[in-house]
Amino acid sequence: MRLPEFEFYEPENIDDAVKQLNKNNKGTVIAGGTDLLVALKQRLQVPEYLLSLEKIPSIKKMEKANGSVTIGSMCLLNDIASSQLIADTLPALKSSAWEVGSPLLRTLATIGGNICLNTRCRFYNQSQFWRSSREPCYKAGGSVCHVTGKKETCYAAFCADIPPVLVAYGASIKLVGPNSSRLLPLEEFYTGDSRAPNDILAGSGEILTEIEIPLQDNSKSCYRKFRLRDSIDFPLVGAAVRISTDERNRCLEAQIVLSGVSSAPVVASEGAEILLGNELSSELIFQAAERASSAAHPLKTDLISPRYKREVTKVVVAEAIAEAGGMKI
Ligand SMILES: Cc1cc2nc3c(=O)[nH]c(=O)nc-3n(C[C@H](O)[C@H](O)[C@H](O)COP(=O)(O)OP(=O)(O)OC[C@H]3O[C@@H](n4cnc5c(N)ncnc54)[C@H](O)[C@@H]3O)c2cc1C
Ligand code: SF4
Repeated sequence: MRLPEFEFYEPENIDDAVKQLNKNNKGTVIAGGTDLLVALKQRLQVPEYLLSLEKIPSIKKMEKANGSVTIGSMCLLNDIASSQLIADTLPALKSSAWEVGSPLLRTLATIGGNICLNTRCRFYNQSQFWRSSREPCYKAGGSVCHVTGKKETCYAAFCADIPPVLVAYGASIKLVGPNSSRLLPLEEFYTGDSRAPNDILAGSGEILTEIEIPLQDNSKSCYRKFRLRDSIDFPLVGAAVRISTDERNRCLEAQIVLSGVSSAPVVASEGAEILLGNELSSELIFQAAERASSAAHPLKTDLISPRYKREVTKVVVAEAIAEAGGMKI
């Protein structure tokens, strides 16, 4: 498959990048390109120009200051997975970066691209030839969703590994637009209302520049992923867990966030509430995992059944809680 023709810009600072992006609305930001270039080859997007962030040094830094860790959107997943700072402060972020794709992919892929990853569906993420065998679905420019038969809604799944972890950590993202910049809690970035992250940013003409993650004392975290091919695959289900416990292993605080089971990361607060105030035990963990899985709303957007996904959700959530809590189940 060949790439379509496009112009290519490499601004050297964020202001120029934002200006260029907002000259007309016909360009797209490219970070590592590991997802975008596939979309271009499949003619899912045909932008007039690509705006590379590669030459902007200010968004390639990771640092710890004032009780939080700030990560530039152009930091590579390989660097995050091998960073001592991240291993010491945000262990679930390290493991989620490590879980993305394959070693080759992680040397190009960025954390910003992972956060802005488009949603996925078996009827959409296909070649132009494959898609031409039927009417385009709603997301591809038609009117009806082939998964649900409903009009003008898309339920494609959000399948990125890193965002559930960042949501569990309470991270915020910095978005820089033509007239201002803003800090947005990451959870609020994902609307789940048919608009994928890249649609949202295309509408506002903003660029994601950095991620700010508050550090919490005594907090323990874990990310668990289930996929079909261990060597390289998107998560069918991902579960991020962050908990803090007292000296008797009673849970003082808990967050459970899921990926792959809806059009946005799912905060499974009812599952987390079951843990609160109680001493961690296998029984409690399985109860919490069962409740967390009821927050998952998978549809047949990939090759496994929604029912199976819900069962898998229970397993990965239970494993993630147990590992974060230092327990064996
Ligand atoms: C074979 C294969 C396997 C994969 N496996 C996984 C996996 O296991 N888990 C997973 O999570 N992902 C996976 N991916 C998807 C992708 O590689 C990763 O999510 C990666 O982190 C995307 O980052 P990138 O820098 O390459 O983004 P790009 O492809 O450059 O961009 C992705 C999207 O984000 C937008 N964007 C990027 N940066 C910014 C920014 N700073 N501001 C505004 N918009 C921005 C782009 O416009 C584009 O829409 C896989 C992809 C492939 C091809
Ligand atoms: S969920 Fe429906 S509208 Fe969305 S990509 Fe799949 S078939 Fe298309």
